[in-house]
Amino acid sequence: MKPLGPIPPGYIAIDGELAISGNMASALVESAGETPLFVYSRDMLTQRVAALRAAMPARLAIHYAVKANPFGPVLDHMAGLVDGFDIASGGELAIVLRAGIDPARVSFAGPGKRDSELEAAIIAGVTLNLESEGEAARALAIAGQIGRKPCLAIRVNPDFDLKGSGMKMGGGAKPFGIDAERVPALARHLIAQGAEWRGFHIFAGSQALSADAIIETQGQTLDLAARLAEETGVALPKCNLGGGMGIPYFPGDEPVDVARVGAALAERFEALPEVLRDTHFCMELGRYLVGEAGVYLTTIVDRKVSHGETYLVTDGGLHHQLAASGNFGTVVRRNYPSAIATKFGAPVEEEASIVGCLCTPLDRLADKGGFPRADVGDLVAIFCAGAYGASASPAMFLGQGPAREILV
Ligand SMILES: *Cc1c(COP(=O)(O)O)cnc(C)c1O
Repeated sequence: MKPLGPIPPGYIAIDGELAISGNMASALVESAGETPLFVYSRDMLTQRVAALRAAMPARLAIHYAVKANPFGPVLDHMAGLVDGFDIASGGELAIVLRAGIDPARVSFAGPGKRDSELEAAIIAGVTLNLESEGEAARALAIAGQIGRKPCLAIRVNPDFDLKGSGMKMGGGAKPFGIDAERVPALARHLIAQGAEWRGFHIFAGSQALSADAIIETQGQTLDLAARLAEETGVALPKCNLGGGMGIPYFPGDEPVDVARVGAALAERFEALPEVLRDTHFCMELGRYLVGEAGVYLTTIVDRKVSHGETYLVTDGGLHHQLAASGNFGTVVRRNYPSAIATKFGAPVEEEASIVGCLCTPLDRLADKGGFPRADVGDLVAIFCAGAYGASASPAMFLGQGPAREILV
């Protein structure tokens, strides 16, 4: 038997069934109409942001990285919880504007912004986190043509990366951001051209669980911001410290000790150099805020045995949960947290693999896990499905189409 990832805290059984925000899984499926279904918990989102705020210095603003989960009702709920939003495309710009989010709270990072996206962002008054000198020149030219003052920040490609992070976003040659040594000259140029100067965006990595690694990176980020602001010659208005805090997905993973991260950051905030004295700081987080608040529910449509191994074949799969199948940036496939939702908390009775309905051996949601005996009609739950699930999976593969989504 292979171990399963840790089920996030807060999920309980009611009458032997997984309950989400107090609703039994089968009742949620009934109200949504059918599986596959993503269920997101409003309470868990609220509690997550509150706990993070309690751990972090009050001066730190919390931003939500929309790409983790752009589902409308989730975004609406997050709008009442967080201070700002980070978007990564013109499509996400349209989504946040449609949600009625104040553009002054939004920043737009991401390589390869098209002229039409730059123009839409400048018209809306969103802050552009510039990814290159070329993009800076295009943004200034477009702003000049339409007679608007652009809100511009520079995404810095830092000369360090976040140790132990699942995805490295800094350190060495990268398509993201502008190499640190070229930043002060560009910043002076933007200010001289009359842009509304919004400061630096320094994102060094993602999905780290080690508080020490995050503390070290935040320290390096503050040092770099101070050095670059000093060389630019003006006090820094804003500094986006990036994100980095991950969630436990796999066996043996432990949650980030946010209290320690917050205490270390508070200490650094007590001793800021002059150029950072009045800076507005934020962190931008995606999966940390929403990942554990989501569950993907599928129905077992077949139960079969092949060469002595049991397969529970579901109506879902990698087309909605690419990450759980191990096909979204992981090197070694390990099991996500999963359970039989209609027998939640029941003792393990057998070894089984949970697979999807696509005809590819890649479509495996749990490999040789231990589960209570499950049959056709039982519901399977894949946890940690609140981030990079529905919108980060190839829903059109094999003509399957998207899963349903609800916020409860
Ligand atoms: C993707 C992304 C994030 C969010 O990453 P998570 O791992 O989901 O927290 C934050 N900032 C930027 C610039 C990103 O590209």
